Amino acid sequence: MQYFDFPEICSNTLKKCGVKKIEKIPVRPDENAQPKNCLNNVRSHIAEHGGSVQLGWIFSCLGNVAVKMTAHAIVRTDAGKLICVTPNKYRKGLLNFARDDSVENLIKNDFLPMKFIPLIDNKTINEYIGIELELDQLRIDNKGLVSQSDLQNFQYKASLLYPSLLFVAKNHTGRNDFCFCGSGKKNKKCCG
Ligand SMILES: [Zn+2]
Repeated sequence: MQYFDFPEICSNTLKKCGVKKIEKIPVRPDENAQPKNCLNNVRSHIAEHGGSVQLGWIFSCLGNVAVKMTAHAIVRTDAGKLICVTPNKYRKGLLNFARDDSVENLIKNDFLPMKFIPLIDNKTINEYIGIELELDQLRIDNKGLVSQSDLQNFQYKASLLYPSLLFVAKNHTGRNDFCFCGSGKKNKKCCG
């Protein structure tokens, strides 16, 4: 089971995420831009081409039971157009983006945090979100680097929760939903 991009995010999910509006942003990675380093990519782009920083959130889904909101920086060109200049192998074409200027207050060590939103009320999901948040805090505290032992510790704790997480995800995925496994296919054409 892996996180997957929502092609479309339903209004109910947006409400749970506290988001009013999603914009589709074209992804045009700069040549020297690095994955997972959006703020520096945006700054380099602005230094060369002008424009300003627009902060906000991007979304991915785990098993149709939780949403990961990742703070993200994109470029607002001098002409007022928004573009994402950060490469991401899972994300091509258009990016679902929610503007939020208050992300500025969450930046630490030049790194942007994540938020995890449970889509259902379930103990396993809350525990899983707890360990994801711990890992994200380590990432931010260590300027983007997580030690091998911290990562192994996370993977161990995740592996203990995994069987019941999978069970909950299967139960909350309809045949016409995107498959809980994260393949990006409909459930009925995948694990359903
Ligand atoms: Zn599947």
